[in-house]
Amino acid sequence: MRVTAALVWIDPGSRRACSRGRGVSRSGGERAGARDPSTGETTKPPGAGPSEAGRYRRALRLVLCAALALGAAACDASLGPPRKQPLPALDNLPARRTAEPRPERLASYRIEARYDAATHKIEATQVLTWTNGGQSSVETLPFHLYLNGFKNESSLFMRSSGGRHRGERADERAWGWIEVPSIRIGALELRAKARHVGPDETVLEVPLPEAVAPGATVEVGMTFTAQLPRVFARTGYQGAFAMVAQWFPKVGVRVGSPGFETWHCPPFHVNTEFFADFGVYDVNLTVPQTHVVAATGVLAGARDNDDGTRLLSYRAEDVHDFAWMIDPYMEVLTGTAKVGDGTVLVRVVHRARQRAFARRHLAAAIGAVEHFSELFVPYPWSVLTVIDPPPEAGGAAGMEYPTLVTTAGDHVFMRDGIHVPEYVTIHEVGHNWFQGILASNEFEEAYLDEGVNEWADAQVMMRMYGEKASAMSWMGWTGDAYHLRRALDQSFDRVPSAIATAAYAFVDFEGYAAATYHKTSAAMRTLEKVVGSDRFAAAMKHYAQTWAFKHPSGGDLVAALEASLGEDLRWFWAPAFFQPGGVDFTVRSAECQPVHEPRGVFGEGASRKLVSGGDGKRGGWRCDVVVANTGIVPVPVDVEMRFADGSHQRERWDARDGSRWHRFTLERSSPLVEVWVDPDGDVLLSSNPLDDHVRLTPDTRASWRASARVVFWTQGLMQGVAP
Ligand SMILES: [Zn+2]
Repeated sequence: MRVTAALVWIDPGSRRACSRGRGVSRSGGERAGARDPSTGETTKPPGAGPSEAGRYRRALRLVLCAALALGAAACDASLGPPRKQPLPALDNLPARRTAEPRPERLASYRIEARYDAATHKIEATQVLTWTNGGQSSVETLPFHLYLNGFKNESSLFMRSSGGRHRGERADERAWGWIEVPSIRIGALELRAKARHVGPDETVLEVPLPEAVAPGATVEVGMTFTAQLPRVFARTGYQGAFAMVAQWFPKVGVRVGSPGFETWHCPPFHVNTEFFADFGVYDVNLTVPQTHVVAATGVLAGARDNDDGTRLLSYRAEDVHDFAWMIDPYMEVLTGTAKVGDGTVLVRVVHRARQRAFARRHLAAAIGAVEHFSELFVPYPWSVLTVIDPPPEAGGAAGMEYPTLVTTAGDHVFMRDGIHVPEYVTIHEVGHNWFQGILASNEFEEAYLDEGVNEWADAQVMMRMYGEKASAMSWMGWTGDAYHLRRALDQSFDRVPSAIATAAYAFVDFEGYAAATYHKTSAAMRTLEKVVGSDRFAAAMKHYAQTWAFKHPSGGDLVAALEASLGEDLRWFWAPAFFQPGGVDFTVRSAECQPVHEPRGVFGEGASRKLVSGGDGKRGGWRCDVVVANTGIVPVPVDVEMRFADGSHQRERWDARDGSRWHRFTLERSSPLVEVWVDPDGDVLLSSNPLDDHVRLTPDTRASWRASARVVFWTQGLMQGVAP
């Protein structure tokens, strides 16, 4: 799913600009003239050299395109007419690089699709081979018809999103939809009996002529027409570019206890869409010879037809989705990732003017494949493709599909060393593990994809760029991904939902994103710091190896961690993942008194003695510090006390004993001047760190909290970005 972090960091307006600040290459297809088949804009015919006036108009258009953020039509027209592309070389690689582990192949598709570049419409047939992997028989098959989420303003997607999605808006002149005029089993036509179920037309339920017994297989033939919308939410076209995702009728998943399985096939919600069974995809795409295609899987066949079209055959094994991109202006940059004793072909598909960023995305993708493979399980497929969409198609950017992702972050301010474009690529590539291989139910437990992935992304970036410079290393400034994220968003306690909330049940997108992405990542990092990074890494690897090519739940994750760590994690997991709120440390009080013998009257009669004033003074200070956690997650934490003579003392409060506050009493030769809870910033789950740190002097105690605010913000900034 889209990387919210990146969207925060990137000026949203930048995605409307057509230039990337690196200048516009004059090579490749960036020529003046001709007609863009998708936009209808007519200029000079193909092959004709641009006239003086044509060159002037082209230059003017490029300037306007970049400076005034004109639409996709103007941007595409500046690239010239689509030219016939050479027949692409076959990958000549197996769809899968590794033999094991393998999933149950329950849902496999053979699809024949023809793309019309002028209308952005797809005419297709498909055969689904579906196996009942449960222990109860099945009498209906429900299919997701995701594109109908973009059909009209009555769909659940449009009603709940208001036609807006992460800064992009739906175009009321360009709806998307899918129609399925024929559904057959053998010669039996079933379409008349099929019906839409739920609040809109995004789920089609097909009654079967006879029940499918446990272990039995059924073949369902379908004919469908898919009209892409103008892209504002993941799938659709913009100008000549199209990202074709969630485009075919996709069968639901049987879930539940053996013998009592039910269908999981909810309508298309705004924030969530991924959950499907594994299978094999053989997809034949008929496309214009002028267009470049990138798709899930490997290219196994390619031939040109006499009518100007081209047949491309893709095969993907052990995936649960199939997506593709088509565009006449794309280039391909390739590299190789080394994984174990083998290699993965990595390619970045991009337009010429994004060449400089493409090199960065390629390096990031290669690093991601290598490090995710080491940390979890080896990348099992032969190819990984990263698509860098043109900036005006920002709605398609930052998405994940099996072996195919879209990235983002190409912005003039993202200079070398500011790892935001790299982060987007690493995050989306990471989804090939946390969703592609560990195929959790994203509808119900999106944090297993997004938040766990975000934690893993930072691990990978630390390995790639260094711990202190994982997010940036630019002009002498460095920042690490975990603390930079924390500095940007410290509002866990303002989200009224727990992490373990269904993606469609959050109050709004901000609540979903804060809990699903950032709080989950912070919780994972906090737990990692408690148990030790090496032990936690081993435990996460155990989780990945145990659940690869299955559908793990949150319960499966914590069970795998507990098994590997050999300890009960309920003290942390239950409040951190199942309750709203987080950790909220506070220094409740801190003061020192000069140490002296007890004063007063001592003894009786002749031995009665009065001790007063400085009689009993023996030097030194007794300091009393009370720290508290008013949040809901008990976490062990270090507390550092610093003294006027420059010395310091670090103590640990282990709140796993159930204590909500702790008192430290110290005798020192020098008075206390500073108290710092979690001085290393290990507890990323902490909210409101404003009062985690105080500076005090005997004379200014009344104002210590005010001054602490200044210190805190400095601290937060320094933890996030350090010179
Ligand atoms: Zn994501």
